[in-house]
Amino acid sequence: MRMYDIILKKRRGEVLTEEEIAFFVRGYTDGSIPDYQASAFCMAVCFTGMTDDECAYLTKYMMLSGDIVDLSALPYTADKHSTGGVGDKTSLILTPTAACLGLYVAKMSGRGLGHTGGTIDKLESIPGFNTALSPQAFMEQVKTVGAAIVGQTGNLAPADKKLYALRDVTATVDSLPLIASSIMSKKLAAGAKTIVLDVKYGSGAFMKTPEEAVRLAETMVKIGKANGRNVSALITDMDFPLGTHIGNSLEVIEALSVLRGETKGELYEVSAELCAHMLSGAKAVPLDDARRAVRQAIDSGRAYEKFLEWIRAQGGDARAAEENRLPVGQHTRQILSPADGYLTALDAEKVGYAACLLGAGRMTKDDVPDLSAGIILQKKRGECVHTGETLALLCTSDPAGLDAAEKEFLSGTVISPEPLQETLPLFITL
Ligand code: URA
Repeated sequence: MRMYDIILKKRRGEVLTEEEIAFFVRGYTDGSIPDYQASAFCMAVCFTGMTDDECAYLTKYMMLSGDIVDLSALPYTADKHSTGGVGDKTSLILTPTAACLGLYVAKMSGRGLGHTGGTIDKLESIPGFNTALSPQAFMEQVKTVGAAIVGQTGNLAPADKKLYALRDVTATVDSLPLIASSIMSKKLAAGAKTIVLDVKYGSGAFMKTPEEAVRLAETMVKIGKANGRNVSALITDMDFPLGTHIGNSLEVIEALSVLRGETKGELYEVSAELCAHMLSGAKAVPLDDARRAVRQAIDSGRAYEKFLEWIRAQGGDARAAEENRLPVGQHTRQILSPADGYLTALDAEKVGYAACLLGAGRMTKDDVPDLSAGIILQKKRGECVHTGETLALLCTSDPAGLDAAEKEFLSGTVISPEPLQETLPLFITL
């Protein structure tokens, strides 16, 4: 077999066999296929696409290129993957909720990059929380507590790691089959039998329209099913940030408040729906029963208690979480409404960048974020506002970024004389 022929076949829009895809992934991983051929291949995929079978094979061989977490000793393993957003702290809510409903959540998460946050940074804002458990400690905690989240370690889908870095510099990130296979290869390698995908659309998301998000979700669901997993997907809005708090410790504070029953609204609804899909998929219960069980677990405070247990198990200071002593930047600024009207847009991407300018995120992989920095929104989507009213509060431990963050935030804010005409549903189930 020759890589030249595989590239040519793909360039002509023909369908590759499983053997050809396996040959490409293995060869690229072991270095026998050079970057220039792999980038020609990715470019051909960008132009001619891939069938569902081709995507499933590409995913399978990227998953098989490295370690696969073995969760087969545990029943009811479930995981959730979000395509990334601003203020998206659903993992912090649904993980303890799922655990107290008898699911096992063994989760590997990422750090934030650019305008989107990462669960690992959020958890590390809890003093003492250890996101680098050994594989043995990780598995032990999942067995006893029902939940553990660690940073992505070891050698999960190294073929994807190499290919993603190449796509990044060859203008080939933006291809639906390549994105879907890349995400799913890592998710499948993380081992859960049931996977719920939260595919976001809007200004703060990878996919800008609901239609694009639906196409990505459908492709990922097919890939997961073809590889023997139980996969479902929700399509959720990321035009506005999710919830009111953006930034690491601030997002933990908001998640705690939802779990204590103090905060309802969009964040509660999206987290509960995702968790209901995890429960329904993992235990094969009807979705409406799962929805009731999830709400009961949160509303009764059981999920909150489980969150504290999970924090303690990973070495975190649960008392600091309980007593609202998580770090919050002491330099603050209120952002005031420049006009009377309705808050009809709050560009999630710009809000995410404003949080980065306060220090909450990373512009490059090596930046060290200020875990206490971020933004607390004071007005909801569509709400009526008056000139001089507070739209949001900026918090940081370094005041140098306040001016730029305020400017960025306001550049994404629209105060209209007319109320919002229509809003899309909070989530669409595939
Ligand atoms: N995230 C991934 O992991 N892979 C992609 O290709 C795009 C986003």
